[in-house]
Order: sequence, then C-alpha cells, then structure tokens
Amino acid sequence: MHNKINGSTKVIALFGNPIEHTASPGMQNAAIMKLGCNFVYLPFLVNRAKIANAVESLRAMHFAGANITVPFKEAVVPYLDKLTEEAKLIGAVNTIKNDNGQLIGHNTDGPGFIEALKAANKKFTPKKKKIVIIGAGGAARAIGVALAQRKTKQIVFADVQEEKARNLAYIIKSKLNVDAKGMSPNTQQFYDLAGEADVIVNATPVGMSPRTTECPLSNISIIHPRQFIVDLIYNPAQTKFLRLAHHLGAKTMNGLGMLLYQGVLAFEIFTGEKAPVAVMKKALLQAVKA
Ligand code: NAP
Repeated sequence: MHNKINGSTKVIALFGNPIEHTASPGMQNAAIMKLGCNFVYLPFLVNRAKIANAVESLRAMHFAGANITVPFKEAVVPYLDKLTEEAKLIGAVNTIKNDNGQLIGHNTDGPGFIEALKAANKKFTPKKKKIVIIGAGGAARAIGVALAQRKTKQIVFADVQEEKARNLAYIIKSKLNVDAKGMSPNTQQFYDLAGEADVIVNATPVGMSPRTTECPLSNISIIHPRQFIVDLIYNPAQTKFLRLAHHLGAKTMNGLGMLLYQGVLAFEIFTGEKAPVAVMKKALLQAVKA
C-alpha cells in the first residue's frame, strides 16, 4: 500500500467468494508501494446474493475500481454502465474501472494470457497459429477471444461437455470470423488436430492440487518438440501435463504468467501508470509460495 493512508487514498477492491487464498493483494500493493501512488488494494469476501450491492458500493464510496474473481465475473455484468469490446465478447469482467461514477467493465484475462505467451517466448505471435484449448469454460472463452482477436488461424475447443465446446466455437467463428471447432476430447479427430497444433492449452482444473496425478490428455504421445504446451494451472507449478510435455521436448509454460499479466494490465487501467512488472512478479511468487 501507499506509505501513508490519508484522506485522498483511493481504494481498489477485489470481490470474490472465497477470497482468503488470493495472491492479488500482495502483487498489487507491491506495485503501489514501488510507484508511491496513493492507492490501496483490499480483498472483500462478498456475500453471493449481494453482488449487485457490492458493485454499487464502488460508485457510492468512490472506489477507484475493483478486480472481480470467482464466482462473480459474469454476475457483475448487468450492473455496469459500459463494457469493452473484449469483455462483451467474453461475457465476463475481471476489472471494473470507476470513471467518475461510470463503471466500465474490462477483461484482462485473455490479453494477460497473450502477454504471458510473449514474455515466455519473445518470438511468439498468435497470428496464423493453430491452437487447441482443452476445456470450454470461462478461462477458455477469455483466451479464445483474445487469440481470435489477434487473428490466429484456427482454434479447437475440446470439453467433456461437448455442447459447451461447440457453442464456444460458434461464438468465435460467427463474431470474430476465425476458423473454430468444438468437440469432445475423446475422439480421433481431436487427437489428429492436437498433433497438428502449434499451441495446446489446458484450460481445465485437471492436474490442479490435490488432483496432481491426473492429466487432461490421455494420449500424450501426440506432443512433439515444435509445440508450445501451456497449462493455466499454477499450483503445482509443474503439472503432470507440463512434466510429460517437457520430457517430450516441447516448450512449456504454467499459469503464473497469465495471473501476473492480467494483474499488470488491471493495475494500468486502475492507476493510469506503467506497471512495475518485475516487482509484481516477485510479490506474486512470494504470495503463491506462502
Ligand atoms: P470452468 O469454467 O470450470 O471450465 C472448465 C471446463 O473444463 C468445464 O466445462 C469442465 O467440464 C471441463 N473439463 C473438465 N475436465 C475436462 C477434461 N478432462 N477434458 C476436457 N474438458 C474438461 O473453469 P475455468 O474458470 O475456465 O478455469 C479452468 C482452469 O483455468 C482452472 O484450473 C483455473 O484455475 C485456471 N485459470 C487460471 C487462470 C490464471 O490466471 N492462470 C485464470 C483463470 C482460470 P465439467 O464442468 O463437466 O468438469
């Protein structure tokens, strides 16, 4: 937080439920301290039935804005004045900026994912790439929209709920004019497409602690050294999926970069300042290990 809380300190909130394991306050307050700007970032455990009141409180109490986490990213949308194009397409918001009483909804999850890919692999560009995303939930939708907006060549969504994957592919195809397919992961077609992909992303909770012995791909042998294999999970830091992919010679990345860069972009929206990325990364690593 700022060295001294005073009458001019602007509050940035984090709304979630549960909230106690969040790493965001450590990361955001480290950035605020580094720049010496007069903000403070505080987590709030919001009653699930009272999210509308919580959003309204941003206006009532002149908060600078709020980050929104599980389970409210979609629920806040009806209470906002405006959405960015990205947030509209995703249908979910993780960052609300209070612009003189106007609440503007942003989604920095997808752009954060792209920034993380670029930070891990300087030469990476989503343009003309074939991407496979396992899972078709909120995270898959955010990264799918961000990739399609940056003119990726093809996106394949594979979810155990096949209908969900098909619906998401339809949205990407119809709204962003990018070749997209939705299917079950248990098909030969899926494994053929996964073998041809430049990037494969796990956007399911499979492999997350305590399910650390599970892997979202049953046939891992399709992975090869020219692929970039990404897991959105960051606890454990190396999932079974990433460990196996690494052994097969692929470049790998976990979900910590996405978490960092969604925070970096949110910080810049809240404060208008360039975020001190190295400071935020260090604080995030400490918070995640704690
Ligand atoms: P979600 O909304 O629950 O979506 C996950 C989807 O994957 C569900 O439809 C689920 O179906 C499906 N699924 C489960 N097992 C599968 C399998 N073996 N193969 C194919 N599909 C499967 O979750 P989310 O919010 O999108 O989050 C997904 C993951 O991303 C989580 O691990 C989350 O922690 C991570 N995440 C990371 C960041 C970051 O910053 N690094 C940000 C957001 C999310 P069922 O519901 O039927 O199981």
